[in-house]
Amino acid sequence: MTIVGNYIGGQHVASASGRTAPVFNPATGAQSKEVALSTADETRAAIATAQEAFKTWSKVTPLNRARIMFKFKELVEANADELAELITSEHGKVFSDAKGELTRGLEVVEFACGIPHLQKGEHSLNVGRGVDSYSQMMPMGVCAGISPFNFPAMVPMWMFPVAIACGNTFVMKPSEKDPSTTMRLAELLTEAGLPDGVFNIVNGDKESVDVLLTDEAVQAVSFVGSTPIAEYIYSTASAHGKRVQALGGAKNHMIVMPDAEPSQVISSLMGAAYGSAGERCMAISVAVCVGDAVADHLIKDMTAEIEKMSVGNGMTSPEPHMGPLVSRVHADKVLSYIDSGVEEGATLVVDGRNFKVVDHDNGYFVGPTLFDNVKKGMRIYEEEIFGPVLSVVRVNSYEEALQLINDHEYGNGTAIFTRDGDTARNFCENVQVGMVGVNVPIPVPMAFHSFGGWKRSLFGPLHMHGPDGVRFYTRMKTITARWPTGLSAGPEFSMPTMK
Ligand code: NAD
Repeated sequence: MTIVGNYIGGQHVASASGRTAPVFNPATGAQSKEVALSTADETRAAIATAQEAFKTWSKVTPLNRARIMFKFKELVEANADELAELITSEHGKVFSDAKGELTRGLEVVEFACGIPHLQKGEHSLNVGRGVDSYSQMMPMGVCAGISPFNFPAMVPMWMFPVAIACGNTFVMKPSEKDPSTTMRLAELLTEAGLPDGVFNIVNGDKESVDVLLTDEAVQAVSFVGSTPIAEYIYSTASAHGKRVQALGGAKNHMIVMPDAEPSQVISSLMGAAYGSAGERCMAISVAVCVGDAVADHLIKDMTAEIEKMSVGNGMTSPEPHMGPLVSRVHADKVLSYIDSGVEEGATLVVDGRNFKVVDHDNGYFVGPTLFDNVKKGMRIYEEEIFGPVLSVVRVNSYEEALQLINDHEYGNGTAIFTRDGDTARNFCENVQVGMVGVNVPIPVPMAFHSFGGWKRSLFGPLHMHGPDGVRFYTRMKTITARWPTGLSAGPEFSMPTMK
């Protein structure tokens, strides 16, 4: 069976660890590959390679770094079908959704192509007589990225294009559940002309991650994954002097006001709750209906729409709306959440348990599930399920809905559906969440803005890509220079001030 190894110094390198994890096709449940779980020493070797490459890569002009990004973008586009097929075969999301993920990743590459402009810095002429001051955005050195299973192309592409374009070198640790897409991206970077050692991949688990968090040469760590691990990454890497951005889990609420356009609400909610089988950090998992009339209508219309949904293998034609979950373990976890919702007294309107797909008996399928009368304190309300399970919470007023969202521990994304500008504006101003949609269910910022949540959805001050991405992967150096030297004055023993 194929063992996915590492990609170090511009080539595939087998791991000698002797430890591996299985990679499955979630639609069939068949094992397709194994992925190496690298040793601490192998991870250190990747870091050392990146450190060596930094010496020359950081001196390459921004224009030439951008040219490699332009070429990489072309190559990803030319290989998009193959990459999307890889995503579907290891993650399970349907093919068109996999292509959509690639497009969103490519938008960050396009953003990174603008690095000569983005990294220009600041300049002040004559801050004193004959004295100029300028600030340069310098690359950091070796940066590390650790990514989750749910976006094996897009999330790494939130990180490495900006980091590399800024002049850093990179060590990526993909999810062990679907490592192949990131490996293919590494090959395409080499084909695009990226010098060997600038982008490296180490496959592995906690053993390799711990090296990335503690090795002296690593300057910055980007992480996306679940909140407990994000918190661990943030505290460990920060304690070792690194700059860290660690994005965690989510529980995204959508408020439905009585004046919202019903058909827009239903079509938006269907995609936002069940697209990618709910395995999106920006998926809507809670619909907060203001008033019983709104809730009754929504439950009736959603039930009718769910009945029309197709679920199956994401590579079949016609394409189903939704594929399987990523693993048996994860599907079982989602099923146990549905059990707990029933036990805790929520009304199970559509039951996705015991869901079977023809000829795919061993696939990790859970059908779309809808709960009504979900209440604060229930596990299905408080915890992130990360599956095709939508909870409807009934409230009596907009204020109650807002309070509910602000009281939740997560603050990644949220949305409000209304035709009232005053309510929408009040919501944008007062909701304690990082990414907010108004009549937009999944308000993922474009690549030229930054992506990140609040509260326990993000640890660290800077969001990903966009302006924050450039800030995260650079550090400022400010130079104050006096020319010509003939203007030099005598020694000054008091605090220097510009005259
Ligand atoms: P995860 O936290 O289990 O794993 C993420 C990464 O951390 C993987 O590479 C994994 O190998 C590594 N890891 C796991 N356990 C570790 C440990 N003990 N020590 C060190 N490293 C460890 O997350 P997942 O299940 O792959 O992804 C789903 C989660 O990611 C969900 O919670 C989802 O909300 C979150 N997510 C968040 C965002 C966001 O933008 N906030 C985006 C995508 C996914």
